[in-house]
Amino acid sequence: APQSGSSYLARLNPEQRAAIETTDGPLLVLAGAGTGKTRVLTTRFAHILLTERAKPWQILAVTFTNKAAREMRERVALLLGAPAEGLWLGTFHALCARMLRRHAEYVGLTQSFTILDTDDQLRLLKQVMEPWQIDTKRWPAPGLLGVIQRWKDRGLTPARVTPSEDTDFANHHARAIYEAYQARLIQLNACDFGDLMLHVTEILRTRPDVLAQYHRLFRYILVDEYQDTNTVQYLWLRLLAKQADGTANICCVGDDDQSIYSWRGAEVENILRFEKDFPGAKIVRLERNYRSTRHILGAAAGLIAHNGERLGKTLRSGRDDPSDGEKVLVTSVWDSDAEARSVCDIAERLHHKGQSLAEMAILVRAGFQTRAFEERLVQTGLPYRIVGGVRFYERAEIRDALAYMRVVSQPADDLAFERIINVPKRGVGPASLQKLREAARFANTPVSVATQTMLETGQLKGKMADQLRTLTNALNTTRDILGREGHVLAVEHLLEESGYLEMWRLDRSPEAPGRLENLKELVRALADFGTLGEFLEHVSLVMETDEKAQDAKLSIMTLHGAKGLEFDTVFLPGWEEGVFPSQRTLDEGGLKGLEEERRLAYVGITRARKQAMIFHAGSRRIYANWQPSMPSRFLDELPEEHISRKNEGGSARCGLFAEQSLFDSGPVVARRKRPPEAEPAFELGQQVRHPRFGVGIVIAADRNHLEIAFEDAGTKRLLSSFIEKL
Ligand code: ATP
Ligand code: MG
Repeated sequence: APQSGSSYLARLNPEQRAAIETTDGPLLVLAGAGTGKTRVLTTRFAHILLTERAKPWQILAVTFTNKAAREMRERVALLLGAPAEGLWLGTFHALCARMLRRHAEYVGLTQSFTILDTDDQLRLLKQVMEPWQIDTKRWPAPGLLGVIQRWKDRGLTPARVTPSEDTDFANHHARAIYEAYQARLIQLNACDFGDLMLHVTEILRTRPDVLAQYHRLFRYILVDEYQDTNTVQYLWLRLLAKQADGTANICCVGDDDQSIYSWRGAEVENILRFEKDFPGAKIVRLERNYRSTRHILGAAAGLIAHNGERLGKTLRSGRDDPSDGEKVLVTSVWDSDAEARSVCDIAERLHHKGQSLAEMAILVRAGFQTRAFEERLVQTGLPYRIVGGVRFYERAEIRDALAYMRVVSQPADDLAFERIINVPKRGVGPASLQKLREAARFANTPVSVATQTMLETGQLKGKMADQLRTLTNALNTTRDILGREGHVLAVEHLLEESGYLEMWRLDRSPEAPGRLENLKELVRALADFGTLGEFLEHVSLVMETDEKAQDAKLSIMTLHGAKGLEFDTVFLPGWEEGVFPSQRTLDEGGLKGLEEERRLAYVGITRARKQAMIFHAGSRRIYANWQPSMPSRFLDELPEEHISRKNEGGSARCGLFAEQSLFDSGPVVARRKRPPEAEPAFELGQQVRHPRFGVGIVIAADRNHLEIAFEDAGTKRLLSSFIEKL
């Protein structure tokens, strides 16, 4: 049953109540992390319905992620006592897609238009660019696509782009190409992601009848994570909110200290514009944080105080328990493996003490960091999920690279070969592939061998043949190097000579640098294994550990993806210069980038309710070499009274830049051998457990492998790294 009377308001503080009961007029809630902004928005939604100010479909509510939309839908249903139907609740893109389907004809599309993915976008743009004969070495298509996307973020249709003064050829033509690209999309009855916002905003700008229709429909507008809106989203909101009589029932909640998407065109200035664009806007500040302990708040506040440009906010604990909680723990560890071990050990211990895995999260700065944790978690058998992303070994670029390796180690692996034959593009279309397959079947050889034969006998011609020759040469020379110089160098050679790495280097999409980092991490992982075969066996094992959907799982996600979420325990690994703040930020050298990284650190710490634990490693592996790494500057900015430090073998005096241990006792690389492994060798007859096969007895052992007779799964030969002693 719905909550009787206004009991749902009784559970809020006076400022929060004011933010909810000021239903009419423009309202901006500007407040720090964990002060209940999202809760205010959800309760406001319910309040509007319960006081019968509007029907469920007359409220437009914007969230930053689909997950947040789902959560809000659930919270509203809980407050109302029943799920609400027909809601306009979702991300900017989801809401715009729905609107565009209703008015597609106004921009020349039909209702059934398709939305292109990045690959399709790029292919289309390349076709469109052809007549301009642009030097694509200097101006690769992905770069131009980036320019077009930024224009779209700013609400600029081709007609609204001011012709560039720049005499540079591509810049000069970018607008014309943009125009041609848009025209081509319409011909194909398609649009890209950016068009969803752009088209709808353009319709609202130019069709007063449509705008009036939405003005009648939406009585109230609610926006979460307002600090991360970009210009076109802002324009869209303003158009929808401002009624003909000048009134606007719009409520935005945000925190300038959590603005972390400027690289995607977000404009924190939208917060400042709010009062100007909506005269008479009320500003409500919330200062009581209900999420975190005092120490966590103190550490976060001390850190963010180092940023220059801030609107300024106070944060104090609003929680009833008088204790300060535990200090933020800063642990220095030997290397990234030790970091993963340490984090997983703590997680396991907390889990045994009764904390649910669902209440723990590992928040990383970059995707490549997840690998070490994933492997350790698989090893210890703790269930985990990668939120908002894909498990490391399932990422597209990793699967490609693994396919390359599989072809090297197993030329008969047709599946792997067919995956990579045209990645990067080598002009091998479905027809050519069919021809190769038939030749293979006829000669009873693998497709890779048939391809080589056809090249040698001159049955393949032209550009495709040249490029396939490069591929088969790369595969063959890799096999030579594998025998002579080992698998790490061989794989590096393979990814380089096949043109695979180059493909990502030329890619200007925002994901490309992350993919290159993942590939580097993959090569790093290789060095832990004696041979390529051992590595591939290990990977298939990690990939096979199946998931049980209903189990509580530890979350691994990026700091960007963690916005708005909360957990009892948060692990923050990799606080080292070049990881966090990221190398790209350091290379660019600007203050703006560094401040955004600091905001990201603030977001990270403030996700924790009870415990935040920061880690930094004394060295990280760059390919086969170990390199010393410096503790992140952010560690020095955490107020001492809110943190405690623990040394598990990283640089001894982290936090004191001038006196780092790596300067006074020579480079860490020189001192480093393998870190002392805690796990001793296995004996025959030893009882052991494996994450998938269960309990068994060791019946044979060599350097890396054990042969184990399992109680239920028969006898298997396995890598010892996955075996736990009982
Ligand atoms: P972020 O900036 O991280 O998005 P937020 O400002 O949106 O944070 P919420 O997620 O809404 O904060 O709230 C943080 C936590 O505090 C939630 O668990 C919420 O239920 C709780 N909370 C909010 N207001 C109150 C209150 N008045 N009394 C008790 N708990 C509250
Ligand atoms: Mg929130």
